[in-house]
Amino acid sequence: MPNTPTHDFLTIATSLLMTPSIYSILRTAEIVQSSAVIVTTVIVLAHNISGLLFSPDLDLDSRIHKRWGILLFIWKPYKWCIPHRHFWSHGLILPPILRLGYFFGMMILLIFATEVIARIFGFPLPEIHQSFAKNIIDWFVTHPIITISMALGFITGGAVHSIADWVVTGGKYLWRVLFVPPGQSARVARKSVPSSIMWLFNPFSHVHPDHF
Ligand SMILES: [Zn+2]
Repeated sequence: MPNTPTHDFLTIATSLLMTPSIYSILRTAEIVQSSAVIVTTVIVLAHNISGLLFSPDLDLDSRIHKRWGILLFIWKPYKWCIPHRHFWSHGLILPPILRLGYFFGMMILLIFATEVIARIFGFPLPEIHQSFAKNIIDWFVTHPIITISMALGFITGGAVHSIADWVVTGGKYLWRVLFVPPGQSARVARKSVPSSIMWLFNPFSHVHPDHF
C-alpha cells in the first residue's frame, strides 16, 4: 500500500484536478456562479479533510492519529473496533460517511461526559449535548445541497486512498502474473484475483490489500 506522504500527495493532487472539473460541470448545468463556487469549495474542502484527517488508515496509521493532537483519543475505539484494512475502513462509499458519523457521535459523547464529570465535582453545567446534536442535524437537513456536497467530498477523499491501495495491490498481482513462470505461484495469483478487490465492496469480505 502507498505510504502516508504518497496518500497525502494523491489527495491534494486529485483535489486540484477536481476543482476546475466540478466547477465546469456545475456551470455547464447552468448553476449560477456563486452557487457553483460554494458547492465546488465544499466538495474540494471535504475531499481534503477526508483524505488528510479522516483517512481510512485511522484504523492503524499513527501518523494520521498525530494530526488530531489532543483529540487523538477519540479515534482509539475506532482503531480497536474496525478490522484493519477491511471494508469498514477502506471500502468505497459507506466507510468515509461512517467516520464522519463516528466523529459526530464522539463529539456528543465528549460533551455529555464533560457535563457528567462537572456535575460529580459540584459544577453543574447546562446540558447542551442534546441541543448541540439537534442543531447540527437540523442544519444538515435545512442545507441539503451543502450536506450532499460534503458527503460527496468525503466519499471521493476516502475513495482516492482506497483506490490507490487497490492499484498497488493489483499491480503486485499483475507483476506475479506477468513475470512469475507458469506454475503453482502464478495459478495461486490468478485464483486470488476475484477476491483481491472484495474489501472495496463487500462488508463481509475477509480479504484485505497486501502490505508493503
Ligand atoms: Zn490504506
